[in-house]
Amino acid sequence: MLLQVRNLRAGYGSLEVVHGVSLHVCRGEIVGLLGANGAGKTSLLKSLVGLLPPRQGEVLVDGRPTRGQPPWRSVSNGVVLVPEGKMIFPDLTVRENLLIGGYHNPDRLLQLDIVLERFPRLRERQQQLGGTLSGGEQQMLALGRALMARPRLLLLDEPSLGLAPMLVREVFAEIQRLRDLGLTVLLVEQNVAAPLQIADRAYV
Ligand code: ATP
Repeated sequence: MLLQVRNLRAGYGSLEVVHGVSLHVCRGEIVGLLGANGAGKTSLLKSLVGLLPPRQGEVLVDGRPTRGQPPWRSVSNGVVLVPEGKMIFPDLTVRENLLIGGYHNPDRLLQLDIVLERFPRLRERQQQLGGTLSGGEQQMLALGRALMARPRLLLLDEPSLGLAPMLVREVFAEIQRLRDLGLTVLLVEQNVAAPLQIADRAYV
């Protein structure tokens, strides 16, 4: 089991928004995590990588507890979050955005080649500023930037947000291809239908 979450609680100030969540993700799976607006999905993902420290419960990666680890440790451990709303750097070029994703990876130039091979649209636009990409291209850039860290587990926060239906299909097809290459995916969505088409299992 790559990821195991047991009775996780997290929140902000006096407000608890993750109320004792337990779930697991096995190697090679695409697992959906579905919930309405404000259900706490983003907060849960943040607490998995240490951006929002859990108040209770356990997060195990490869059976090892991650409690108290800073977010950068999560990245070097192969667990990489693609945040909601893409959060690319709008004033940096596509190439610079990608290289930042591989910051701790000594082979980042090699990895850059691999990522650009996967996303020809990004290769063509390497020198373009991130903020001038279309919504779908920005989502591909956010995915590509995460791949620069050579992740084992991708945590995707609403990758379909704000995309036209055709682009959603494109992004989901890409997620499936990444799984076929050996990646494991925890896919958070408000939208129910599309993730269920590619997920092996889902939690609500
Ligand atoms: P959405 O699908 O709309 O993105 P979500 O399921 O991802 O929602 P969260 O973003 O985790 O939900 O938010 C859960 C609750 O926590 C919401 O009520 C939100 O207002 C609150 N919340 C989120 N971030 C903070 C913060 N930094 N400080 C205080 N409250 C917060």
